[in-house]
Amino acid sequence: MTPPAKARKNFAVLIALAGLACSCLRSPVEIRRVKLLMGTKVEIVAQGRNQASLEKAVNLGFQEVERLEAKLSRFRDDSMVSKINQNAGLGPVQVDPEVFMLLEKSAAICQETEGAFDITILPVLSLWKFDEKNAKPPSEEEVRQKLSLVDCAKIVLKKDQYLVFLPEPGMGIDLGGIAKGYAVDKAAEALKQNGAAAGIVSAGGDMRVFGGKGKGLAVGIQDPRQRGRVLAKIYLKDGALSTSGDYERFFVFQGVRYAHILDPKSGYPARGEQSVSVLGEDGLSTDAWATALFVLGSEEGLRMIKSRPGMEALFIDASGQRRVSPGLEARLVWLEGED
Ligand code: ADP
Ligand code: MG
Repeated sequence: MTPPAKARKNFAVLIALAGLACSCLRSPVEIRRVKLLMGTKVEIVAQGRNQASLEKAVNLGFQEVERLEAKLSRFRDDSMVSKINQNAGLGPVQVDPEVFMLLEKSAAICQETEGAFDITILPVLSLWKFDEKNAKPPSEEEVRQKLSLVDCAKIVLKKDQYLVFLPEPGMGIDLGGIAKGYAVDKAAEALKQNGAAAGIVSAGGDMRVFGGKGKGLAVGIQDPRQRGRVLAKIYLKDGALSTSGDYERFFVFQGVRYAHILDPKSGYPARGEQSVSVLGEDGLSTDAWATALFVLGSEEGLRMIKSRPGMEALFIDASGQRRVSPGLEARLVWLEGED
């Protein structure tokens, strides 16, 4: 999540190509709404039978995103994440079951990705000042010092009382690599529970689709070097698609591009890929895994997701070379500019 004041507009990585006005439903009403939330463009497209109840469902979907932003943003002093960070090295903080679950999942994905996805990245991330104008890289010494505070295994989680403790002063967590994915899941759930028959919820590069019939709903994957150009499309019935790229939040200093996904092992931006898209069942997982695979690169990344049923990935590396996991190959429809 980026600071609300610096909301990015129209930078959606994934673009819903077709509306839902296919042969999905017999008498469909369709609503499409956009709001700037979580520092990005959140779009809901929903289909149902009745305009009034669909309007209500869409509003409840956005409310879920707003609710989660208030809890999870590190840019809001009164969020649960900020409370945890403010108490680093001081004492445990009691959180609610939802935040606790997110932290448990984040810690588990950190283990599974051998530390490539690590929410304790905050002390190093703060050095990079990606949200400021005229940013420049921090000194190697600063990075080295802060890197000693980055280690997801240090987060103390006590489930019986939902307590969270960051044991060292200066430690901090940032859910920017997982919160939007979870938010699109929860917004989609709200739509479904309130009568929507089909829908797409997207927040920046994270997208959750439900209720697609037939071939499913077409969603697009953006070309990482040409804004607005869709590189490939894929049909989804139910599931999530997340893309992490180096083209949304970055700065260029002395001819070198520094983007906002850091390799927790070095404290420097991961440089091997231009973008990584992950397809899976839920947005929480695809969001975190896309961030992790961006760090890991295609070689290690493809090896790691082999053992994860239902998860597929597309890598576009620094030279534009594409690599696709075996299960995704046949499902991607390349548009113009195909190799
Ligand atoms: P976006 O925010 O553009 O959707 P991502 O989902 O890949 O992109 O998340 C990137 C964000 O995650 C960064 O802005 C930062 O807040 C956080 N982050 C950066 N590096 C890591 C990392 N290695 N592990 C976990 N979170 C990270
Ligand atoms: Mg992510």
